[in-house]
Amino acid sequence: MSGPAVVVLGGGLSGAAAAYALALGGVSDITVVERGDTLGGLAGSFERDGHFYPLGYHHILHRDRVLLHFLDRIGALPRVRWRRVRMLFDLGGRSYDLGTPGGFLGFPMRLRDKAGFVRLMLTAFRKRDWSDWQDRSAAELVDTYAGAGARTALFERLTRLKFELPCDAVSGAWLGARLHFREGSAPLGYIPGTNWTTVLCDGVARLLEEHGVKVRLRSTVQRLATSGGRVVEAELSTGERLPADLFVSTIPTEIYRRLVPGDHTPELERIAYSALISVICATRQPIDPRAYWINLASLDRTACGIFLLSALNPTIGAPGDTCVNFVTHLRGRDRPLFHAPDGELLARYADDFRAVFGTELTPFWTNVARVPMYSPVFGRSFRNPPIRSASWENVYFAGNYRAFPSIVSTGTALGSGLETADAVLAGLGVRSARFAEASAFRLRGMPRA
Ligand SMILES: Cc1cc2nc3c(=O)[nH]c(=O)nc-3n(C[C@H](O)[C@H](O)[C@H](O)COP(=O)(O)OP(=O)(O)OC[C@H]3O[C@@H](n4cnc5c(N)ncnc54)[C@H](O)[C@@H]3O)c2cc1C
Repeated sequence: MSGPAVVVLGGGLSGAAAAYALALGGVSDITVVERGDTLGGLAGSFERDGHFYPLGYHHILHRDRVLLHFLDRIGALPRVRWRRVRMLFDLGGRSYDLGTPGGFLGFPMRLRDKAGFVRLMLTAFRKRDWSDWQDRSAAELVDTYAGAGARTALFERLTRLKFELPCDAVSGAWLGARLHFREGSAPLGYIPGTNWTTVLCDGVARLLEEHGVKVRLRSTVQRLATSGGRVVEAELSTGERLPADLFVSTIPTEIYRRLVPGDHTPELERIAYSALISVICATRQPIDPRAYWINLASLDRTACGIFLLSALNPTIGAPGDTCVNFVTHLRGRDRPLFHAPDGELLARYADDFRAVFGTELTPFWTNVARVPMYSPVFGRSFRNPPIRSASWENVYFAGNYRAFPSIVSTGTALGSGLETADAVLAGLGVRSARFAEASAFRLRGMPRA
């Protein structure tokens, strides 16, 4: 099939996956337009002294089937190693590991609530599809399985860390789906000797090249021109125009809605994005490798979490370096902290480090990333917008804002791209089931580090 010209807006993983699946389906004229220097978006990386690092902590989840499918496709899956890491909850000046009997028993929560907590976790681990919890809150979910005591002691803290919202305002379907992926208890994956998101993004870029997809980097779409109920061209900030028959938008919905006049697709205008600050630094000082992930659950710190990237991947960066990542989730980019000068941010994170590790942090480089639109805020009534615009008949949507309820990962972004490509191809009369195929991927083994 030669068929239509397709422009994919955004070269993150959802855009790249959509373009790839369209090419596999026989579409020959595909252009991905990405404003960044490389493909990858939030899964992109930065380089220091010849080593690559993610913008913020990234681990491979053993249940993230579409991600595993893509790692397999690009030949990287045999290089993945799995490590059981520790996740701590720092509360009132003490750290608790809920995965050990001592940490679990010592955590300040009544015994009855701890039994409820175990019930909730077991339910979440087994239940894959959480769509029946749409329109119900995380408070209802936790109270149903674990009880209000467990909610107050733990989950109210976690939803505030993630969205600056109480459990009552957060979606129960989102929380259930998130717990299903067992981030705190199952082994996590990485690729030794490198940063795995760089391997993934390079591999996906190679797939696009092999399949003749045109990639326009450093190209920002600033307007979508319409005519007769259709979008007819994407106008770049340079003034260049890219006409096409079909458009797949994978950019944040808030940006898309600014580019096109009046898209009244249901749910689209209700989507608001949380913001994120991620600071990565490298040090040669000895750091107690007590955990990979420390949740600062006292809620009185600047960071929501501190990640010791080297505790998952000891070979990230140069030999002997330890890589530390401070992450703060904010309800929106209008929060004052998001605009704080770098010096102030770094001083506040240094305070957090001292409070948790009891020692000064002495980094020899630091990278500050501010992501104004990180993840949709999954409020209790969140719903996915439809796959196709209700206002502009030749516009389709993909991205993590369509993958709810899910963990919001590299794999769910890739999966959303495949799902949308299947829908576009169906509209062209081509049968394609890439999303179902990738979602059925089975991991054959989990070689340990
Ligand atoms: C700190 C952090 C930690 C994470 N941890 C993990 C993890 O441990 N495991 C995991 O699997 N996933 C993790 N993720 C999630 C994962 O990286 C993202 O969910 C995924 O990469 C999102 O892909 P996307 O294509 O949907 O969106 P994006 O990556 O946001 O892609 C959208 C693209 O559109 C481009 N764009 C926007 N506007 C325009 C415009 N006007 N013109 C042209 N281009 C435009 C952007 O530059 C971007 O590249 C993490 C993400 C972050 C930030």
